[in-house]
Amino acid sequence: MNSYDAVIVGGGHNGLVAAAYLARTGRRVLVLERRDELGGAAVSFRAFPGVDVRLSRYSYLVSLLPEKIATDLGIDVELRQRNISSYTPRGDGGLLVDTGNRERTAASFRRLTGSDRDFASWERFYDLTSRVAGPVFDSLTRPLVDRSTFEAMIADAEAWSVFFERPLGQTLREWFTDDTVRGIVLTDALIGTFTTADDPDLTQNRCLLYHVIGRGTGAWDVPVGGMGAVTAALTGAAQRAGAKLLTGAEVLAVSPDGEVRYRYADNEHVAHGRHILANVAPARLSGLLGEHPTGRPEGAQLKVNMVLDRLPRLRDTAVSPADAFGGTLHVNESFDQLQTAYSQAAGGRIPTVPPCEIYCHSLTDPSILGPSERDAGRHTLTLFGLHMPARLFNDHNDIARAAALRATLASLNSVLDEPIEDCISRTPDGALCVEAKTPLDLESELGLPAGHIFHRDLQWPFADDPDDVGRWGVETEYDRILLCGAGARRGGGVSGIPGHNAAMAVLDASD
Ligand SMILES: Cc1cc2nc3c(=O)[nH]c(=O)nc-3n(C[C@H](O)[C@H](O)[C@H](O)COP(=O)(O)OP(=O)(O)OC[C@H]3O[C@@H](n4cnc5c(N)ncnc54)[C@H](O)[C@@H]3O)c2cc1C
Repeated sequence: MNSYDAVIVGGGHNGLVAAAYLARTGRRVLVLERRDELGGAAVSFRAFPGVDVRLSRYSYLVSLLPEKIATDLGIDVELRQRNISSYTPRGDGGLLVDTGNRERTAASFRRLTGSDRDFASWERFYDLTSRVAGPVFDSLTRPLVDRSTFEAMIADAEAWSVFFERPLGQTLREWFTDDTVRGIVLTDALIGTFTTADDPDLTQNRCLLYHVIGRGTGAWDVPVGGMGAVTAALTGAAQRAGAKLLTGAEVLAVSPDGEVRYRYADNEHVAHGRHILANVAPARLSGLLGEHPTGRPEGAQLKVNMVLDRLPRLRDTAVSPADAFGGTLHVNESFDQLQTAYSQAAGGRIPTVPPCEIYCHSLTDPSILGPSERDAGRHTLTLFGLHMPARLFNDHNDIARAAALRATLASLNSVLDEPIEDCISRTPDGALCVEAKTPLDLESELGLPAGHIFHRDLQWPFADDPDDVGRWGVETEYDRILLCGAGARRGGGVSGIPGHNAAMAVLDASD
């Protein structure tokens, strides 16, 4: 009874994707999830007692989930485009990027930068991303090819050089004159990744790549109903296919011969898998194998969730709050500000002006608000703060969290015409509806190593090692154990791709 074709360690969204694919082929599948709910970092939650708002508590936007996975598994998740791409305040003005209105965007660039030059470079840069997006994205759900085959597939020398060969900082300095414009492009290279524009290892380029290829367009859309709706759809698919899903089941140890020891309902149990699929981070898997992980990853962000009575006014009176918060609002994320914040954080200090980006889910999808919250005109606000590495929180997490939140709200207030605190809702008990999650909080809640949101730094989407050509990028040194989470090659983000690829590796092995 305790033998399975696959035992999946962790019930994050990728574990559910792998479970659904395998169970559909008649495989016996067991998913063991430590928490009381499935979904890992892709969940919705009523974070504030007495306030009927289901926030996407951790991840919030979807770009990387392929249509193919949704179709294969028969899941129906509506992804809604935001009206505005981004708004970046500067002084009493700002830069509005309205993807649906080229003239409006061009005029905004002209006002901010004083010429049309950076707008022309902007269009050239994003034309380049659209040339690589399709082929790279399609390749993520196929076996790995080597670097030169991948380069030939891109077939674009300029794009190859910009994305795969030279540090992004060089390109940004050469192509753009304006510090704010450079910074907006750079932010996509720094999400969840603690590095600089000039990192010779190109960690920033890899992060950028994953942020501009999603579904062949790079658009980041709002999952209607919140991230919980994505996980609910995947849970349904796995259950319908016949997978057994256990929550409150913490895996304690795994062995290369397929044995999985876990605690469930206060008792220890053992299950055997022809394959073990690790939805947990590679560093966690090493721990479960009794090994000592080398090169521990480090997360570097502060996530803040808020509910507001109303959207705040901005210093820039030319932009409406609905436009400013309708896309990604970049706060103090110019190129120089990002580099300064990195240096301060690398030196062990909370950045004096924390760069962060913000978006309002409820403007695009009010369905996450209960009826009374909707009638009252309330909104959700999601803030993702950059360059807040785990090392800043190691000594006194509670004290450092409070300090990081204070500094971050002050950074936000610097672009507002009224303090954000005046707009934040209160619970019936009078508490402010604001919660902050440091990397250490994410480690204890989700098991992310030092809070790394991608389980480890993102990797190139091709085989570095000739032995990996033709494989799925999920293999470990043990035949029976595969990665099926964000830490796989071509992992990271809400994509289901590592789950799909691990399932394909299992099916290939049994052909
Ligand atoms: C704050 C934050 C914001 C983000 N924003 C976005 C975003 O907007 N868009 C996007 O695409 N990506 C975003 N990401 C990244 C994305 O959410 C993750 O990369 C992705 O969800 C990882 O999914 P996964 O299934 O691979 O792993 P996880 O979601 O990490 O799931 C792993 C599961 O394993 C479980 N587990 C751990 N240890 C054990 C054990 N011993 N036994 C049993 N179970 C165990 C965990 O509880 C967890 O449920 C964000 C992440 C965070 C944290």
